[in-house]
This record gives sequence, structure tokens and C-alpha cells, in this order.
Amino acid sequence: MQWNDLIAWIDEEKLGAVRANEPMADHTSWRIGGPAKVMVWPEDTAACSQLLGHCKTMGIPVAVLGYGTNLLVADEGIDALVINTREMNWILWQDHQVRVGAGASLAVLAGQAARRGLQGLAFSIGIPGSVGGAVLMNAGAYNGMISDVVSQVVVLDLNGGQHVLSKEDIHYGYRVSDLKKNHWFVAEALLTLQPGDRKALEKEMNDCLKARKEKQPLELPNGGSVFKNPAGEGAGRSIDRAGLKGLRIGDAQVSLKHANFIVNLGHATAKDTYTLIRTVQQRIHQQYGIFLEPEVVFWGLKE
Ligand SMILES: Cc1cc2nc3c(=O)[nH]c(=O)nc-3n(C[C@H](O)[C@H](O)[C@H](O)COP(=O)(O)OP(=O)(O)OC[C@H]3O[C@@H](n4cnc5c(N)ncnc54)[C@H](O)[C@@H]3O)c2cc1C
Repeated sequence: MQWNDLIAWIDEEKLGAVRANEPMADHTSWRIGGPAKVMVWPEDTAACSQLLGHCKTMGIPVAVLGYGTNLLVADEGIDALVINTREMNWILWQDHQVRVGAGASLAVLAGQAARRGLQGLAFSIGIPGSVGGAVLMNAGAYNGMISDVVSQVVVLDLNGGQHVLSKEDIHYGYRVSDLKKNHWFVAEALLTLQPGDRKALEKEMNDCLKARKEKQPLELPNGGSVFKNPAGEGAGRSIDRAGLKGLRIGDAQVSLKHANFIVNLGHATAKDTYTLIRTVQQRIHQQYGIFLEPEVVFWGLKE
């Protein structure tokens, strides 16, 4: 495969900044991951559509990257064109609705909503991902989920074709959506919020940030919650009860602060982290008969 040809084509078509052998560790909150063959930063939906269409025709694998806050990438990296959505970060308000690009920050959006006295996003203030990642993963916290406020999503299929989906088309559930199942590229979303009290929203968000700081190991690189919560007891509680807090492989460690987080103590590799995830999974299965399903997404590692 001619990666240099791809870079030349992207430059020629002016589809965004582009780099070869871009270290994924620089783009993931875990600070882990080998190089992406090519990374591109498109600025709009039309450029993404062109990129997807070209790659489909040429048989080039594509991966979509938001802010890398729920992602474990192999040490060997990824042989694909990685489309980084960070430059698609526009936010357009119209009354109580907002149309937003996939690369906008969820936390920035939540802050803007509160300042406008609009409620529905306060839950998301400490979630460090992009809007696109959140809409795909149905990010949620403190009894709120992004699907509560999604009205419409503009997606691209693997050929680059554009579709407008309503919330009903997406079949949202706990950290699942048809967007994920069908490998749609989330390009834009329309969110509908409700009038609220600015002061109360700001307080709610401050409380939320304080609680996160107390409970989560934010001082060390991590990938957020590693496992989805099974029905009944939370994943973190089971891992804690099994005595696995502090379990370490290389520089990857089950956080002492929150057992559903794995932290990078300095030089953790994807292999260390992945082996630790599988070890925790096996131990919990052996001890409690519970299968913990990963919430984090793996690139280049066996699911
Ligand atoms: C400290 C910390 C706290 C967290 N707290 C929470 C929490 O409370 N609740 C919660 O739900 N999550 C939480 N997370 C996880 C994470 O922030 C969310 O899942 C977030 O929605 C992921 O967004 P992202 O942009 O980082 O996605 P990425 O990690 O970049 O990608 C995750 C997946 O989404 C895909 N993807 C990303 N953008 C797009 C797009 N535009 N179109 C199609 N696919 C796309 C990627 O291909 C990948 O499969 C936390 C993470 C951290 C590090």
C-alpha cells in the first residue's frame, strides 16, 4: 500500500493537515500506542466524506479518532489512515438547540450550555472526550447520558455517503448505539436542551468535578472506566472486593483510588495494560462468575 501516495493525494485535495507515522501515544489519555501510518485532521464533513470514499475505493483501512480518552492502541501502532476529528470543533447555538461538530469538546459544550442557562449536559462536565466519541459511545455519568439530549446525528457511511439520523434510528442503550454497531462516522450532532437555572447548573457542575477529583485517579494517565458496569454491583466495586486494587503488570496498575481505572505509572505498554485488563476479567469471572465487558475500545489488540 502506498502511504506516500495517500499523503500526496490528501495534500493535493487540501483535505486537512496530514502526517506520517504519528505516535498514537500523543493522542490518547493513557499516553500509550505506537504510530498511526497516516493521520489527517479534516476541518469539515465534506473532507471526511471524500477521505472515506477514497479509502474505500483504494482498500485503505480507516480509523476514527476523537480525543482518545477511551482507547487502548497497540504498541505496534495501527496500519490505517486515522481521521482525527479535533479540527471539526465548531459549535453553533440557536435558542435551546446546538449544532456541533464531532471534534468539539464535550466539557466545553457543557460549560457553554450552563452559561446560557440550559440544562441537559451538566452530567458531562468531567468527561474528557469529544462530542463525536460521546454520541457514538453514549457517554454518561451521574444519571445523565448524551442520548437524553441527542435529536439528530449527521453520519457518514464507509463509502463517504451522508445520512441524517434521528435519535430513534440510533437505538441507544447503556454505552451502546447502532452508530457503533454499524461503524458510522459521526460528523455532526444536533442536541436539544431545556431551560434551567444558570447558578444551579454551575453548582451541579462544580460538585460533579469535585466528586470526580476525589474518586478518580486524574493525576495519572488513564483511559476512563475500563469495564462497563454489569447489572447489579458496579465493576469497580467487584474489582475492589476481589482484592485487585493495586494489581500491577509493568507500569500498568489497577488504580488504588478507583478499581475500574487502570493507570499508567510512567512507561506502561499496551501489552502490559491489555494483559492486566484480561487478568482482572479472568479473576472476576473465576471469583464471582461475572463477565466484565470492556468499555474501552481496542485498536490492534484482540477483543
Ligand atoms: C478521566 C476520564 C473520565 C471519564 N469519565 C467518563 C464518564 O463519566 N462517562 C463516560 O461515558 N465516559 C467517560 N470516559 C470515557 C470517554 O471520555 C468517553 O467514552 C468519550 O465519549 C470518548 O470520546 P473520545 O472523543 O475520547 O473518543 P475516542 O477515545 O477517541 O474513541 C472512542 C471510540 O469512539 C470512536 N469515535 C470517536 N469519535 C468518533 C466519531 N466522530 N465518529 C465515529 N467514531 C468515533 C473511536 O473510533 C473509538 O472506537 C472517561 C475517560 C477518562 C479518561
